[in-house]
Amino acid sequence: MHRSVATIFTHTAIPLALGFALGKRVIPRRLLEFGILASILPDADVVAFRFGIPYESMFGHRGLTHSILFAVLTGLAFTAFSKIGRERRRTVFLFSAFATISHGLLDALTNGGLGVGFFMPFSPQRYFFPADWIEVSPIGVGFFSARGLTVLRSELLVVWLPCLAVGLLGFALRHWMRRLAERNPL
Ligand SMILES: [Zn+2]
Repeated sequence: MHRSVATIFTHTAIPLALGFALGKRVIPRRLLEFGILASILPDADVVAFRFGIPYESMFGHRGLTHSILFAVLTGLAFTAFSKIGRERRRTVFLFSAFATISHGLLDALTNGGLGVGFFMPFSPQRYFFPADWIEVSPIGVGFFSARGLTVLRSELLVVWLPCLAVGLLGFALRHWMRRLAERNPL
């Protein structure tokens, strides 16, 4: 089975971290849900395997749905259908488009499968980042020899920990700034 980042849930770390860092006033709960959905949406393309569409195809895995164009279209679609106020439209677009493209960015950090077609359909080229930080294939033997554990460990280190740090940093910064504003009213 070709997987992108081993667990699809890991993709949700990005919108979760951003939502936590920016807070409910910027990213209301509903929008956070959009972001979570957007971050896993690109992997709907795994149905391509069922239909016998080859991985290398533009419609194959990590193809068109992992492109920048798809992220922009997803952002526009969420913005059009969202009931979040008009004045929030730009935030809805940016947050859902970013959550969508973040999926491909994480996939491009893995060391397995084919690269990501960021510029499809304009270019068939598929990309990996030079750093393959996220484990897709098993390494070593012993206690952590189980493939699942290895993958989980690399995802925890490379995705969840930095996301947690970003989320906490944003949270702390927000509260610190609010305190400061309360103490020094203009
Ligand atoms: Zn993917």
